[in-house]
Amino acid sequence: MRKKIVAGNWKMNNNETESIQLIQGINEQITGESLDNTRVIVAPSFVNLSASLKASENTPIEVVAQNMHEAKSGAYTGEVSADMLKGLGIKTVIIGHSERRSLFNETDEILAEKLKAAINNGLEAIFCFGEKLEERKLDNHLLEVGSQLRNSLFQLKAEDFKNIILAYEPVWAIGTGETASPEQAQEMHAFVRNVLEKRYGKEVSENTSILYGGSVKPNNAEEIFSKKDVDGGLIGGASLKAEDFSAIIKAI
Ligand code: PGA
Repeated sequence: MRKKIVAGNWKMNNNETESIQLIQGINEQITGESLDNTRVIVAPSFVNLSASLKASENTPIEVVAQNMHEAKSGAYTGEVSADMLKGLGIKTVIIGHSERRSLFNETDEILAEKLKAAINNGLEAIFCFGEKLEERKLDNHLLEVGSQLRNSLFQLKAEDFKNIILAYEPVWAIGTGETASPEQAQEMHAFVRNVLEKRYGKEVSENTSILYGGSVKPNNAEEIFSKKDVDGGLIGGASLKAEDFSAIIKAI
């Protein structure tokens, strides 16, 4: 059975103290909840990973990284490698968030390298993809997402998918307050599952969790999560408050 996942992407928010407090706050709010088959994930910034890992000990909360560099090591000032993340005890990394694509020029080709580096290092990857507003308006959203998947993901082998989580994040819904309707999310998630099935077979397509991201809030989470192919969410803004994030966790 596919895992349900609620993941909070903290982006460039929270200093060390705030990161620790947020993890403690979330833990308090979800203590006693039955989290059967559900993973709770937070992604603090690199500099707060160690403190966050420590704060998450003895809680159900998993701490993951927001990004990594594809090279093994070398002259890449300011960058962080898979090996460094592993050394801290990080097991999962987000790859291909739309802000990395648009603000830091990460292309499908670079993301393919990052995915390869993550998987080859034994890390699990949360791979993000999604169309821009113009593509949605032109009704090209399925074509665009299909191409992002082919260009970055399809180099992987079927067995690599035990370490892959997918996250559909329509760019027009990120941080805008505008959410894809549950039907729009379901349409895309079903499309992605179908693409996966054609390329890798039923087992991979049925067992890969596909998250939705883009303005998920406590008041819309339940409806989005109720869709058959939506296995959870990648949450930005609403993951920064313990009450909101835990309300979203409870909605799953
Ligand atoms: P948002 O961000 O929930 O603030 O729209 C989602 C994301 O960027 O992962």
